[in-house]
Amino acid sequence: MKKVFSHENRMIVFNMKNLLQAAGIETVVVNEFAAGGVGELPTFDTWPELWLEDESRLAEAEAILREVQDNQNRQAWFCRRCGEQNDAAFQICWNCGRACE
Ligand SMILES: [Zn+2]
Repeated sequence: MKKVFSHENRMIVFNMKNLLQAAGIETVVVNEFAAGGVGELPTFDTWPELWLEDESRLAEAEAILREVQDNQNRQAWFCRRCGEQNDAAFQICWNCGRACE
């Protein structure tokens, strides 16, 4: 198996899983319940992950994920601390870690 996607928001991970499934690509979600306990900051290590069962479909899966993420790029936001542009899929700045507001 191969990891193809990870996000702190499990709804987004499941959305990706559904999109891949619609294309006939089977995936497995791991760490589904690891992140986001009340009062805890989820860390990158415990983000839900999407794993591809059949690695021969990798190029196809990546093309679908890229297309979805390109769409999200259209709602990119700018960090208020460092001014960096962030993909809408990110809820914290990739550059300095500040939360999106
Ligand atoms: Zn920043």
